[in-house]
Formats: sequence, C-alpha cells, structure tokens
Amino acid sequence: MSAKSNIFVLVGPPGSGKGSLSHLCIKEFGWKQLSTGDLCRKHIAEQTEIGKEIDFAIKSGKLVSDSIIVDMVNKWLIDQIESGAHVLLDGYPRNLAQAEALDAFLKDEKFSGVGVYIVTFVVPDDVVINRLCKRCICSNKDCQAVYSTAKDSPCRPKKDMICDACASPLQVRSDDTFETIKERLSIYHEYEDAMLSFYAEKGNEILKVDATKPLVEVFENFKKVVGLKDQ
Ligand code: ADP
Repeated sequence: MSAKSNIFVLVGPPGSGKGSLSHLCIKEFGWKQLSTGDLCRKHIAEQTEIGKEIDFAIKSGKLVSDSIIVDMVNKWLIDQIESGAHVLLDGYPRNLAQAEALDAFLKDEKFSGVGVYIVTFVVPDDVVINRLCKRCICSNKDCQAVYSTAKDSPCRPKKDMICDACASPLQVRSDDTFETIKERLSIYHEYEDAMLSFYAEKGNEILKVDATKPLVEVFENFKKVVGLKDQ
C-alpha cells in the first residue's frame, strides 16, 4: 500500500457488513469512513434544504440523485486526502455515473499516488434479507452502533433494544421494511455489474471477501486481500 491516502471502495448489497467492517477499521487503524447513507440520514434529521428530496428517495428504497451525492462526497474527500488519511467509502460509488465521477475527481494532479482498492462483499440475497429484517441501530446519531434482534446472533444487545455502547434506545431504520429491502437489493444488482466492469476495464483488481462469515473473519479476510500488514 502507498504512503499516501488509500481509498477503499466497499461494494456490496445492503446488509453485507460494509458499515460494520468500516467501524472496525476506524477503531483498529484510525481510518476515516464515509457512509453516504449516514450522511443522507443526517440531512433528513437536520431538515436541511435537500433533506426532503433525500427522505423521499430513501423511504421508497430508491437512490438519491447523483448530483447531490457526488457533491457531498467530493467535499468530504478533499479534506481527507489532503490530510493523508486512509478512507473507506461505504455505499459510494453505487452506480456507473458515480464511479465515473469519482474517477474524474481523482484525476486531479494533487491526488496522484492515491491508491484505490475495490473490495466486494459477497453474500447471497436471502442472507442479507434475513439480517436486515432483524437489524436495529442506536438512535444516537453520534453512535449508530448496529445490532441484531435475531435470537442466535452474536450481535444481540445485552439489554433489549438498548445500545451496549451508549445506553441510548435502539431503533429500526425506516427503510428496513421487507418491501424496501427488496427494492434496495434489486437496485444494487441493477448497477453492480456495470460499476465493477468499469473498474475491471480500468485495470483495478476486483477484490472479494466472503461476507457470510462472522465479522472478525471478514476483517481478517479484508486485511489479507488488500495486502495490509502493519499500520
Ligand atoms: P443500504 O446500503 O443498507 O441500503 P445505506 O445506509 O448505505 O443503506 O443507504 C441508505 C439509502 O441512502 C439508500 O437506499 C439510498 O436511498 C441512499 N444512498 C446512500 N448512498 C447513496 C448513493 N451513493 N447514491 C444514491 N443514493 C444513496
């Protein structure tokens, strides 16, 4: 890996564990994560001007418009890359237009030497549907820890619907309903191939992790595929 910033593009269906892996990398390595989904939900919570448009898209399981997303990401990325941070993009790019926008953004001379790793989370749809139907999230916007209500899950909170980390109530995401999950998955599959082909044609290796495994194994697998030794 280069001494400059590296960008890890996490590609996988909703519920494949991109956010959970990101949180481990933040904790273990001090990397930075941008979850475009979290950023969108922040706009809704803060009732910003674009919040309404975002809310409508999210509730119906559709994508938010590329122009809004690309603008938000580019603003965030500039600071991170200039500070030399390693960054995880969780949920971006999500389609070909966004992949092209990221590519165009990184063509700027000041970003030369920035490494881009494409890591796909491989997991069947029925596994993620099951996970998402049982997912709950800390309502504290600064925490957002993710849990599962599934009886046999290692991610169950110690107290029913209370966050282990900050004791705030847990809540179910408004888009974690069966219908919306189906829609999000179908949109994911609609765009996945075009986006991955774009990177493959550019010469990026498409790295894969088996996302059906427990998080610690996914983390080990991730470190291996990106060639991570010491941090
Ligand atoms: P998930 O991956 O579980 O669907 P996210 O939290 O990543 O959840 O995203 C939730 C929603 O936010 C998406 O369904 C979409 O409406 C919006 N969103 C997030 N990232 C993007 C993006 N890159 N482009 C367009 N819309 C996005």
